[in-house]
Amino acid sequence: MEKAKPRAQSLLRGQSINTLLILSFVIVALLPVSILGINSYHAAWENAWREVREKHQTLAENLSSPIAQYVNNRRIAISLLEDKMVALEDATDPTENAAVLAAGLDYLHGFRAVFLLDDHQRILSMATSYPIGEHAAAQLNLGPENFINTLFNASHTVLSSVVINPFTGKTTLMMGTLLYGAGSMNSPLLLVGELKIDAIEALRQGIHFGDQGHAVIVDPLGRVIAHPNPDWANEHIKDLSHLPIVQKMMAGKTGVTEFYSPFKKADMVAGYTSVPKVGWGIMVPQPKAEIETQITKIRGSELVWALAGIALALVFSLSLARWITRPLNTLACAGQRLHDTNFKSELPKISPKAPLEIRQLADSLGGTVDELIASRTELAKLNDSLQERVEIATHELRKSNQKLEYLAQSDHLTQLANRRYFEQVLASLDDRRQGDSQGICILLLDVDKFKEINDRYGHAAGDEVLIQIAGILRQGLRNTDLAARYAGDEFVVLLRAGLEIGRQRARDLRDAIDEHHFQFDGQTLHTTVSIGLAYCHSISACNDPDELLHQVDVAMYEAKRQGRNRVVEVEQGYPWA
Ligand code: GH3
Ligand code: MG
Repeated sequence: MEKAKPRAQSLLRGQSINTLLILSFVIVALLPVSILGINSYHAAWENAWREVREKHQTLAENLSSPIAQYVNNRRIAISLLEDKMVALEDATDPTENAAVLAAGLDYLHGFRAVFLLDDHQRILSMATSYPIGEHAAAQLNLGPENFINTLFNASHTVLSSVVINPFTGKTTLMMGTLLYGAGSMNSPLLLVGELKIDAIEALRQGIHFGDQGHAVIVDPLGRVIAHPNPDWANEHIKDLSHLPIVQKMMAGKTGVTEFYSPFKKADMVAGYTSVPKVGWGIMVPQPKAEIETQITKIRGSELVWALAGIALALVFSLSLARWITRPLNTLACAGQRLHDTNFKSELPKISPKAPLEIRQLADSLGGTVDELIASRTELAKLNDSLQERVEIATHELRKSNQKLEYLAQSDHLTQLANRRYFEQVLASLDDRRQGDSQGICILLLDVDKFKEINDRYGHAAGDEVLIQIAGILRQGLRNTDLAARYAGDEFVVLLRAGLEIGRQRARDLRDAIDEHHFQFDGQTLHTTVSIGLAYCHSISACNDPDELLHQVDVAMYEAKRQGRNRVVEVEQGYPWA
């Protein structure tokens, strides 16, 4: 029990609402029907059994009194005939006794024949309702039965057991009495009547119920008097005394019992009784199967009701499940769709007929989704503006950085590269990267007698001269060249060129400055430059920039020394000393 509960729970866990509802309804529908069915089945069995007992016994008992009446009436009739016979002067006179017998057969209904026998059982006279032909004088031979002997010893009418009528060959019943003092006869005579048993058969036939319920009447020896099988009832004596039920009747008992019927070849339930004084047995059997069929019918109807209950439960549970799960499924699908479309789809409308809780769920879900969409839209806007601001800030920063970089690398007066940047470039030169095999030239330019310009025209004029020299340098540069302000009135130029071209460019620069008319404050100024030129046939050969600059500086001073406004080259390997 302890284990069964969790097992049932784990079985139910995760099941759909449909399954749970259908299961619950079927159980709810089946449980009471099953309990009721089992109870009513047992009750039906008991009821049917009691009814059978009562009915069968009542029927048997009800047959008893008409049979007793039947027998009694015939006793009276025999007595009447006896009186008539005793009243004759000579009962042995065939003329007289035959007339009495014939008249008796006429007015005493209930006899098929009457016989007058002497003490040797010879028929003295007889009247029959059937033809007897050549056997007219025969004895009334009733077989080995001692009915006739019993008559001689009896003081009242005696009823025989079932015997064979020697004239008809059919089974029959005899009733007889001893005639004392009948006329002049000294020896006793016997008066015997053969009973009409049609009335008993009619009584028996009146009992029929069910398909095969019937009645059987037997004599005190257990021989069949009336039975649905005509062969047993008429053609020959059928002895049933071996049957326990017959034995009970023969013992004078009344009751209900079960037994196996050789006639029906089936187990039977039978009520039985015996007729008081007469000693006959009456039983009312019915095949047990018939009773069981009735019960099975009851069971069948219960099964029908159970099935109807299950069908109803299924219909109810399915419609209830559909009522509940359809809107839930709609919500579940809508939720999935919202997820798949990134909240771009809409929540469907839930039918107003849907359960209240589901409608409430749908409403709150709708509200939540709306709020979520609004938040997401707001967030997207914020993201967009943040991104825009970040881009602007990044752009500004980049510009500032560029500006800073420019400031860090440029000379503020001439806007040329400054000395630091020039030295960085020079130090980072690389043959392979530059892809240049013709070598490099470095020119160091110093303005001749610049102090004088300052002194004569003022510092601002000196600045202007420096700015204009920078412009001349810039104009003469190619993309691969670099010009920088090296210090005060000194400029340095890096050329990617061989010695010849470097020489020419140096001369060109010197000439350009010499020929330039420096304008300042409405005045025209003139100046020149002295240029030191150093050449490296390959970059790797200029692996010491400081030394290179030093040498070009020395060359520039040599130019000053030689009279200024000229170009002096550094001899490779033999710097000027
Ligand atoms: P030299 O031919 O021998 O070079 O004669 P010089 O007068 O040019 O002598 P030097 O090169 O030694 O003098 C440089 C002068 O340049 C000294 C300084 O006052 C001046 N100077 C340096 N920087 C600036 C500047 O930025 N602007 C101005 N106007 N003058 C500067
Ligand atoms: Mg100078």
